[in-house]
Amino acid sequence: MMTTDYRRGTFQMMKSMNRSIILNMIREDGPISRAEIAKRSKLTPPTVSKVVKELIDSHYVIETTQGSSNGGRKPTLLEINTEQFFSIGIDVGAERMKFIVANVYGEIRDETTLPIEPLPDQDSLLGTMKEGIRQLLTSKTHDPEKFLGIGVGMHGIVDPDTGISLYAPSFDLYDIPIKDELEAEFGMLVKVENDARTMTLGEYWFGHGNDADTIVGVNVGRGIGAGLMIKGRLFHGEDHLAGEIGHMTIDLSGPKCACGNYGCLQTLAAGPAIEERAVKELKAGRPSKIRDLVDGDFDRITGEIVYEAACQDDEFSIELLHQTGRFLGIGLTNLIHTTNPSRILIGGGVAKAERFLMKGIEETIRTRGLTAKAKETSIVLSKLGEHASAVGACVLVLEEVFVR
Ligand SMILES: [Zn+2]
Repeated sequence: MMTTDYRRGTFQMMKSMNRSIILNMIREDGPISRAEIAKRSKLTPPTVSKVVKELIDSHYVIETTQGSSNGGRKPTLLEINTEQFFSIGIDVGAERMKFIVANVYGEIRDETTLPIEPLPDQDSLLGTMKEGIRQLLTSKTHDPEKFLGIGVGMHGIVDPDTGISLYAPSFDLYDIPIKDELEAEFGMLVKVENDARTMTLGEYWFGHGNDADTIVGVNVGRGIGAGLMIKGRLFHGEDHLAGEIGHMTIDLSGPKCACGNYGCLQTLAAGPAIEERAVKELKAGRPSKIRDLVDGDFDRITGEIVYEAACQDDEFSIELLHQTGRFLGIGLTNLIHTTNPSRILIGGGVAKAERFLMKGIEETIRTRGLTAKAKETSIVLSKLGEHASAVGACVLVLEEVFVR
């Protein structure tokens, strides 16, 4: 058992507001001079000098003479010692957990993936989390003292204040005390958030969202969830339910959803919906290359196989993904009319089929959007791709240290 708390020191060191503001300015705008920091932060030059000295003495910041110069003596500039801070980000999906180590710029330095046993109980799920974290902490690629904390992107309903997973539909588990368990085990800061929100947060810091203040990240995988970033802040609603667009009703007489309702968006556009429609049509005798790809065994049909067939110009698969795009487009149009974002970022497993989905998505939004601006809402693929939720989980930790 690892119960030492020596790593708390790194985090405690950064708790001072001035330190945090200065450190973030160096992270975002470095290399930067002390004078420029004082000017932009409105802190006094002696305060800046004092804090910078502490940051240099503790190796968080280094001096450099590289950077802009207009002749004459080059000024001494400050930049982040990127080898001094790391965080662990975990993306808890339905079937596997992805673990990464990232630096303060969201660059991935180490990673591992572990399978989740089918219908795990709480202990098994937390056990897998601890196992992955332990692997990264002991992999010797990074000094454990340099870890700032652990961020967890968890599917389902999450209370970020208590770090409890209130409901994880893929596991049918309630009230998993993730934060308390991991903090007790590893003695470092732990933050927990819904995975679509961590995806959006990751894009906001390091991906396609960092030039906009109101964006929505939509995670399309085994289910569909959205992270709403409204004017630079993740929006949770009153009881952490905001963004559950997978259960937005799209077709009153549509297929039954795991939630008990009919025609929810995810029964029409998530991975399992694509599989089920493919199986149904093939059983009805529809010609398709999918039949060969699975050697006639329909149990082996997955969303990935449909995508693979589409890549081989299979007419049925292309049409199926196009139709999926149209369903997604209806969900996104509702989202545009509710939150009016400047951009929607699409991630998750199904997003890999972007080239077959996008036409249906865009056609639908252009047809149904209320105004010219709504019709033009930018829809892009997540820049961080399959790592977006895990990188965003690291940002949960970074935003505690670097005050923007
Ligand atoms: Zn539903």
